[in-house]
Amino acid sequence: MNTGCPNQECKIYLQNVFQKKDGHYFRADDSRFVQRYKCKICGKKYSSSTHKFEYRQKKRRFNQRIKEDYAGGKSMNRLSLNLGLHPKTIQRKIEYLAKKARYSERERQKILKEEKAIQVQFDDLITSVHTKLKPVSVSVVIAPKERLILGAVVSEIPAFGKIAEISRRKYGRRKNKHTKNLDLLLENLRPVIAPNAEFKTDEHKRYPELIQKHYPKSTHLKFKGERAAVAGFGELKSKRFDPLFAINQILAMFRANINRLFRRSWNTTKKENHLQDHIDIFINYFNEVLRNQSRKVRKRNKVKLIH
Ligand SMILES: [Zn+2]
Repeated sequence: MNTGCPNQECKIYLQNVFQKKDGHYFRADDSRFVQRYKCKICGKKYSSSTHKFEYRQKKRRFNQRIKEDYAGGKSMNRLSLNLGLHPKTIQRKIEYLAKKARYSERERQKILKEEKAIQVQFDDLITSVHTKLKPVSVSVVIAPKERLILGAVVSEIPAFGKIAEISRRKYGRRKNKHTKNLDLLLENLRPVIAPNAEFKTDEHKRYPELIQKHYPKSTHLKFKGERAAVAGFGELKSKRFDPLFAINQILAMFRANINRLFRRSWNTTKKENHLQDHIDIFINYFNEVLRNQSRKVRKRNKVKLIH
């Protein structure tokens, strides 16, 4: 991959033409030879690394491990301790991983356009930023048949219930961005969801109008939100057939694999955008790796390959 001259003033800026190979250098960081190029128009020198997300990184060898561990319940502090990297390095790595994860999911959606999802489920997960008095909602949209997470968005919401009054007194009125953000998410997913798709959700009062707005030809089945029973040593058990099993199971995976979403955790989110970054990394890891751990999905994909 080489996507052209990085000189903004150059006539062929970012175009893959008129470039000359110009030797190579050895990158000690990950023991690789990197091809150098020279632009034939402006003479600017660059390399095959220039346009990559990893450009100018010094610890490339750790990227994959950080991604796996961060999407598998490890905290940033523990990563720093285990890998012997400075917390700031971990912080920067995570920002980079989130950017790359979003890019990779956008690429996946380009492929999904060919075969749009005909079944969709979505739901919200409540967590908080900094203190319980500042709750946020995470809306997650999935395609149960393909077992794919299509997208998720974090939204500020006002505190509700017993703590509403205290929250207002201490931090002022919080905006409710849930409807607006979910609206945007559903709109952005239009290329990958079939217009006549079947939506399954709980009875949240905002859902019908949003689905109707973006997918007027779809069907929407609403079910009473039923929480799985906690049996024995806190194991999740479904009491009876759960029509929303797919989304409930994936939200449970969010809770089990994203450290800051653990129940009874010391680890809390300090900034909303960092929660979004963490979720985006998890989604990418789920769609890339975890989803294929399901034997059912593997079997189905195999059948597809044969035909
Ligand atoms: Zn140039």
